[in-house]
Amino acid sequence: QRLSSPELRSRFVNYFEEQGHTKVKSASLIPHNDKSLLFTNAGMVPFKEYFMKPDTAPFNAATSIQKCMRAGGKHNDLDNVGYTPRHHTFFEMLGNFSFGGYGKQEAIALSWRFLLEELELPISRLRSDEEGYQLWKKQGLPDEMIVKCGAEDNFWSMGDGEGPCGPCTEIFWDTMDDTLDERWLEIWNLVFMENYRTADGKLTKLPTPCIDTGMGLERMASVLQDKRNNFQVDQFQHLIGGLRRVLKTKNVIVTPSDDPSAHEKIIADHFRAMCFLISDGVVPSNIGRGYVLRRIIRRALRSAHQVGINEPFLTELYPHLLKGFEDGSYPELASRASSICNVIANEEATFLTTLNRGLSLLSNIFTHPDHQKTKTIPPDVAFQLYDTFGFPFDLTLIIAQEKGWTVDLKAVEALKEKQKAMGRESWKADNALDKARLSEWRNMDIFPQFTGYDHDLLHQESQ
Ligand code: ATP
Ligand code: MG
Ligand code: MG
Ligand code: MG
Repeated sequence: QRLSSPELRSRFVNYFEEQGHTKVKSASLIPHNDKSLLFTNAGMVPFKEYFMKPDTAPFNAATSIQKCMRAGGKHNDLDNVGYTPRHHTFFEMLGNFSFGGYGKQEAIALSWRFLLEELELPISRLRSDEEGYQLWKKQGLPDEMIVKCGAEDNFWSMGDGEGPCGPCTEIFWDTMDDTLDERWLEIWNLVFMENYRTADGKLTKLPTPCIDTGMGLERMASVLQDKRNNFQVDQFQHLIGGLRRVLKTKNVIVTPSDDPSAHEKIIADHFRAMCFLISDGVVPSNIGRGYVLRRIIRRALRSAHQVGINEPFLTELYPHLLKGFEDGSYPELASRASSICNVIANEEATFLTTLNRGLSLLSNIFTHPDHQKTKTIPPDVAFQLYDTFGFPFDLTLIIAQEKGWTVDLKAVEALKEKQKAMGRESWKADNALDKARLSEWRNMDIFPQFTGYDHDLLHQESQ
């Protein structure tokens, strides 16, 4: 059975619309009116208020395909990307929600019918956990299809602070692949929104229990398209195929394989993420959301450097990204294409200068007779590279390792600490600089719709 990603999107939404849900468009990746959150990290985020006050919701039940970003805060998958079959930074979450309408049993029945009747998945390859045990059993799921999970997997909250939360039950797919670290792939999470965690950490009951579910589109596509990981589904085939073609034009030797390399996965994932972030008005900076974006762009370029490309190439991937969203599900990708590519090209050029400066500094060290004796990169040089030149520290480590050289991590760490202690005042200057940069972007008319930063977030996630 093969179902394309666009088909999966429409099947999901149509099914829940038929079951009385109102279709709601994806909200921005920048959560509005929510200072507790860096990015929208789940389908429920735009509905947070409705869980607390269901009578204010304009509908009893809703369904959506929400753009999500997990690269900071409680749900942070940045380091997983490229190394697990199932994690992205940016991904799409299919969801259905009840605001005081139907409860647990109905939620389970709805998802069950969607998987078995709509998608025609074989029951023998589905599993669930104990949280929903009795409820699942009522759906006809035999005992042996219920697996034990740790308690942490059976309680869901959007962040660590205040907010609605509750017990959850997860649905797994049997990949039947024992070579994977995890044979069981989590595809859907059903949260019974019953609680509210207050600012001081107490768990209280919500006045009306609600339902929040989330299913990763790319994961479900990997199941339906019979692929071993998310990066082999249709959308990523466009992007990775495109990436390989671009690399070839830059004389990079590409080893074709069904399963992309970790670097290819990172470049493709991060490229998608940067485009969606920028399309929602985030610009690279040294603080807050802009800093996460900057890190994502730099990580992509670092991987690019690792596969052997040292010239601008990112914007050449754009048409291949668009190809994966031809169903028009995110019209902003096409309408803001030139702004998005401008921002990327600018940041890429800046970073390549940084990169090349750092590389030549390093090569001076490698060829210096004094240092050749010890085969170590002096800690102050490693620190300066990172601190003054903005050269990624982990890249210094990788390059050193490849050469068989070492870096005294502790000594570099000590220098970093010292700098931090001295650096309080310089934050202010940084801030001013950043504001100048932002108004520069605005003057260039790149983001007339830019809504500005949430200043409470400025120092979050910016280590
Ligand atoms: P995992 O345990 O695999 O990290 P999770 O339990 O953190 O997933 P949830 O918070 O329950 O994920 O999110 C609901 C669904 O969204 C998941 O069941 C999965 O299908 C999908 N999902 C979660 N994180 C990612 C990600 N980083 N990339 C792609 N899909 C994801
Ligand atoms: Mg997770
Ligand atoms: Mg999980
Ligand atoms: Mg989960």
